[in-house]
Amino acid sequence: MKKRIIILGSTGSIGTQTLDVISQYPDRFAVVGLSTLGQGEIFLRQIETFSPAVVAVSDEETAAAVRARADLHRTALLTGPDAMTQMIAEWECDLVVAATSGSAGLCPTLEAIRRGRNIALANKETLVKAGQLVMGLARERGVHILPIDSEHNAIFQCMAGQRIEDVRRILITCSGGPFLNHTREQMERATVADALAHPRWRMGPKITIDSATLMNKGLEVIEGHHLFGLDIDRIDVIIHPESIVHSMVEFVDGSVLAQMGPTDMRLPILNCLAWPERLASTMEPLDLCEVGRLTFREPDEERFPALGYAREAARRGGTLPAVLNAANEVAVRSFLDERISFGEIARVIRRVMDSHQTIANPTLEQIEQSDQEARRRAEEYALAR
Ligand code: MG
Repeated sequence: MKKRIIILGSTGSIGTQTLDVISQYPDRFAVVGLSTLGQGEIFLRQIETFSPAVVAVSDEETAAAVRARADLHRTALLTGPDAMTQMIAEWECDLVVAATSGSAGLCPTLEAIRRGRNIALANKETLVKAGQLVMGLARERGVHILPIDSEHNAIFQCMAGQRIEDVRRILITCSGGPFLNHTREQMERATVADALAHPRWRMGPKITIDSATLMNKGLEVIEGHHLFGLDIDRIDVIIHPESIVHSMVEFVDGSVLAQMGPTDMRLPILNCLAWPERLASTMEPLDLCEVGRLTFREPDEERFPALGYAREAARRGGTLPAVLNAANEVAVRSFLDERISFGEIARVIRRVMDSHQTIANPTLEQIEQSDQEARRRAEEYALAR
């Protein structure tokens, strides 16, 4: 029996790599549904190659470009802002890969959990914004949330067969990004091209900038807190420029388990698609002798204030993590559009956080309202620069 898969966000970096993995195991996986937020050309090729039963396209322009090809392949076409949620509600599948970037994936992911579908989660916002709601619902419905993010996938693998009460702390590794050895002044003046030149991972522009500010690690700390049900104070970040150890778990007896592998997102993707099995892969194996040495050091929270802001948001909880995330999205976009400097990203986030009145145990509506308000404020502060 093939595992039936729906991919939310199939044209992004994780989406295309997921399809790349799937195409190598035609007898194991079947693509039921795909969705895009507006990448017509790539999407047309995906429909051609995988002939999914259904596709969801939120914007009308892309939908018009896709319609004829979908008809040709007898693929149902859903359009409009709720297309992804409708696809999840109306089509059967065994696994939903949540790989949209930004907030669009939250509603369809919640719908998938309500329907008892396991989730391979690549979208950080889902847990950062609504971690309590998402994990609460997943527990209630007996749904497994399988993390694609390489660090959480590593922790997930180290945790297999272990008890959470035996964990002393988790150590999330961090490559350090392009500015690991830059001074504060150099970082302040960094250009968009500097910040996009990530030394280890090839990723989309938003997450690459987040890797330069270390906000990506901050968001991962919040993600880990929800995924594994651990206090923020038991989640540490450790700089590991070689990106070979993808994260570690330290147990109460002092044992530390680490997961290692080549720096290739297709590995955690394959791990999630195949779970609870493992499938043989043709990926280049890890050659530790060639790597030679693995180094570790502590992160510098003064040069990378985003890390501390994320911890603070997670500790205070409620709507604050959603606010942090929203302010960060606007600040990163403003930097990419060359409206603010690199150093301003963290300052915009700080100001938005300081102006927010945190609501404890928020509803989804309150989370969305706080998110919108934070975006407005961040735009305002970015414009004032
Ligand atoms: Mg990661």
